[in-house]
Order: sequence, then structure tokens, then C-alpha cells
Amino acid sequence: MYFPVHFVALLSVSPLLQALAKPGSTADIDVASFSPDDILDKDVAIIGGGSAGCYSAISLKDKGKSVVVIEKKDRVGGNTETYIDPATGTPIDIGVLVFHNISVVTDYFNRFDVPLTPYGEDDNSGQSAYYDFSTGAELNLSFPSANKTAAAFTRYAEFLEEYPRLNDGLFLPNPVPEDLIMPFGEFADRYDIGASLNTMYELDPAVGNFTTVPTVERMRTMSLSLVQQTETGFLTTAHHNNSEIYSKIQTELLSASSLLLDSEVISTLRKDGREGISLVVRTLNGYKLIFAKRLLITIPPKLDILAPLDLSAQEESVFSRFIDVGYYTSIVNDTGLPDDLSIFNYNPNTPYNFPILPGVYNIQATPVPGLHLAIYGTPRGNKSFSMPTDQVKADIIKGIKTLQQANPVKFKQTEPEFVVFSSHTPFYLQVSADDIKDGFYDKLYALQGLRNTYWTGAAFRGQDSSDLWRYSKEEFYSQLCMCICVSTLLKTARLSPAGGLP
Ligand SMILES: Cc1cc2nc3c(=O)[nH]c(=O)nc-3n(C[C@H](O)[C@H](O)[C@H](O)COP(=O)(O)OP(=O)(O)OC[C@H]3O[C@@H](n4cnc5c(N)ncnc54)[C@H](O)[C@@H]3O)c2cc1C
Repeated sequence: MYFPVHFVALLSVSPLLQALAKPGSTADIDVASFSPDDILDKDVAIIGGGSAGCYSAISLKDKGKSVVVIEKKDRVGGNTETYIDPATGTPIDIGVLVFHNISVVTDYFNRFDVPLTPYGEDDNSGQSAYYDFSTGAELNLSFPSANKTAAAFTRYAEFLEEYPRLNDGLFLPNPVPEDLIMPFGEFADRYDIGASLNTMYELDPAVGNFTTVPTVERMRTMSLSLVQQTETGFLTTAHHNNSEIYSKIQTELLSASSLLLDSEVISTLRKDGREGISLVVRTLNGYKLIFAKRLLITIPPKLDILAPLDLSAQEESVFSRFIDVGYYTSIVNDTGLPDDLSIFNYNPNTPYNFPILPGVYNIQATPVPGLHLAIYGTPRGNKSFSMPTDQVKADIIKGIKTLQQANPVKFKQTEPEFVVFSSHTPFYLQVSADDIKDGFYDKLYALQGLRNTYWTGAAFRGQDSSDLWRYSKEEFYSQLCMCICVSTLLKTARLSPAGGLP
């Protein structure tokens, strides 16, 4: 039976493993009972198999590193979800829809032979209308002209160009300029970009009334790269099934013994230095013990989600600052609305007519007759799971019924039902203006590499897969890979009889 050298060493010194060995401890596991098949030794263990986790796994694998991804669901892809209508086989993307036309994206999709196409090219999604979901009243809103909107986006892009590192991440000057901290509504007034706000909202509604968020938190997603796509156009998959790439990734990772689905980390031991990290993972087939040179964490870094990890005081104090929103997508049948009609929730009495949350963002037409996509959001809060699912569902149905009852001639009176419901909570992790002023993002990025642990995912960049992949590729993979090479050399040196480099 082969045990990696550091496993044997750890058995005698690791508080984690000693704790696990005690009957009645957290997981009540007898370490000695791990069969060799249940012990994995990898270069990098990755927690979370969503957008960032999968991209990282494939990139590191392509650089010759061995990886294992630990994903709690029975599939990879995270916020990318596709419903396949059983009657017609038609795919409906209910999560991630568009990508930037940049080489990081096109290279990735080419690697898996998944064709991309300009987004909206074959769009026949029908008509749009604006309603106040709280009253059911149709709103006759007038939005800025296309020219005014484009000019406002140009002014916004000119501002972003003054801070090129903002296109790569939350890399802020010190001290942080007031422009980047003020509420985004004030920033919009100061730089005369108000005409772009409704389009920004339609591109990414995720915090509802974003005029109150610190400017840089809006710039996270409304990056220079994204704004450039509003001129050149976004990409989507040619088969209108964004999950296609993830099913290919899943197959590849499973066949390389690099993916544990339906699995969750229950304990970690992370230290600086040569030992690397160790994890105990609960899977459907029992517990696994994983040793890796480095750990890459891609799940939302909220304290409740990270609870099973051995967080340091430094990590705890950084992650405790995050606030987030609830974000939910669903497919609803029999809405009573015309199949080709999409309805956007606006409020006649708010700045830019943004809806009041919690509430429905929109009910969108889909390519399948009888099915609409409904999207719902909550305001920013401190808890990861602020609103029970049943309450969200009840509120979506209430919104649709309000539309029906206020417009009996236009809409049929029906009893809608959920075909699919998905929670993307916690979404849009961000911090307060005071925290930004206090150097939060320097503190966040300073965690990279400590205790043999790296971090990526939306919290470290933004809710945008293309920007996230670019951030992961350009900002820390080389450091991560270099550290693995150094670890491997040191380990080999320790194993060689003379104790020196072979
Ligand atoms: C409805 C919707 C539409 C969107 N549209 C777009 C779009 O069109 N274009 C775009 O670029 N971006 C879009 N986004 C944003 C995009 O989803 C994010 O940028 C991206 O998914 C973030 O990637 P991530 O890896 O950080 O998180 P996710 O993709 O959410 O991945 C996190 C993964 O970690 C897993 N996980 C969570 N907790 C644990 C745990 N304890 N143990 C193990 N695994 C765990 C989750 O199951 C998930 O698979 C959209 C998001 C939503 C919700």
C-alpha cells in the first residue's frame, strides 16, 4: 500500500486527522479505514465546479498539473443552466447567456469544439413591454435614444480607460479615489452617463437599484471589456445550449479521475510551507482524503459557506465584510401571457424606474410555446440565504396573477406552475463604501497564496464569466503553477537519498 510521504507525516501531527480519528468527532471517521482508493494525491484541489472552477481545472490540466474538483451538485457548470424541453428537445438557457468576444473565451470554446455565434443574430424573442408588477399597470416609459445611450457609454468607457487595472480586477489606487467610492447614481450625474443606466440594468439587473452601490461595485461587472461588447456584440453558443461545454468538461474530468460530484469538503488543514494541504471530502461513495500541493477555492467566500474550512483570523475578518443579494431563475408554464411577450418590471416612481426589491425582474418569452423564464431578486443583505424559496416562488406567482387580474382583456386568467426553479444565491458579493475606503480589496487579494490557498470566482472579479476567466488566467495561474513546480522540486529533493536535488 502506497501512502505519499506527507500523508504519513501528517497522520502523526495533523490535528485535523487526529480529530477525525477520534470516535464521535465531527465526522466520526477512522482515518486508518481510508483505503488507498479513497486517498487522492493531486497538484491542485479545487472547491466548486462552476464557471471559475471548471475553467481553472481545464487550464491547470492543460499545463500538465493534476487536479481534482469537488462539486456539491450532481453536475458542473454552476450558474450556467440549460433546461431541455422534453417534448421538443429545445434547449433554454436559464442562467449564463452571453460571453465577450475575446481570445480567452474563443480559445476555451474551441478547445471543446463548441461553436459560438453572435448573440441575438437569430433572435426572434418577440415583443417587450413594461409593467409595474406591484399594481399590474402597463407603463408608458420613454428611455434615452440610442445615440444618447451610446454617447453616455463612450463617456463611461473613457473614465474606465483612466484606470486600466480595473479591467483586470478590483485593483484600486491607494488611497481609493472618491469617484470610485461614491454611490453610482452620483457618479452617473457627475460624469453625465445617466443615459446608459437603463441599458446597464437590462444587461445586468442583479442588484436592482444600483444607483446606491459604491461606483466600483458597479464597475466590477460593467467593465471596460463588457462595455466594448456593447459596441461589437456579445457571443453565445451556436446551439443555444451553454451547458454543452460543461457536459464535455464533466466527461473529461470524470475520465481523468479529476472530479468528485455530489461532494462536499467537511474539513481542511492548510498551512504555509511544503506540506501542502489536506481535505476530507464527503462523497456519495463515502469519505475521501485528498492531499494537494495547493488548494483553489472558487465557491462564494461567505463565512457560512466556508464554515467547514480552517479559516484563519485574517481570512475570517476579510470574508466577514461581504454582503450579497438573492437571485433566482425559473421556468413557469401557463402564465396567461402571449408566448412571444416579455415583460419587464419597472416602477414609475423610482430613479431610472428601477423596480423595488424583493421582486420579479422580468418574465421573458422562450423559444418553447407555453413557457416563460421568470427572474427574481432580493435587495442586498448580510445573510447568504435571506429569503425562503417558497416565498420567492409565491411572490413570482403573485406578480404574474397581478398582471393577469389588472389586464383581463390582454392576459388569460390561468394558474401558472413552476417547471424549473433555481437559486443562484448568494449572488453579487460586494462590500460597503467604508470597507472599500479602508482597503478591503487590497486585503482580499493579499490572501492569494497564503496557507497554500488561492481564490477565484465571482467575488474576486465580478459576475461575468469572460472577465472571471481572464482574471484567473492573467492574475494568478502563473504564480500558482510556479509554486507547484517549486513544491515538486522540494519534495523530490527530500525524497532523494542524498537529500539534494537529484
Ligand atoms: C441567471 C444568471 C445569468 C447570468 N448571465 C451571465 C451571462 O450571460 N454572462 C456572464 O458572463 N455571466 C453571467 N452570469 C454570471 C456568471 O454566472 C458568473 O460570473 C459565474 O457563474 C461565476 O462563476 P463562479 O465560479 O464564481 O460561480 P458558479 O458558477 O456559481 O460556481 C460555483 C460552484 O460552486 C459550487 N459550490 C457551492 N458551494 C459549494 C461547496 N460548499 N462545495 C462544493 N461546491 C460548491 C456550486 O454548486 C457551483 O457549481 C449570470 C448569472 C446568473 C445567476
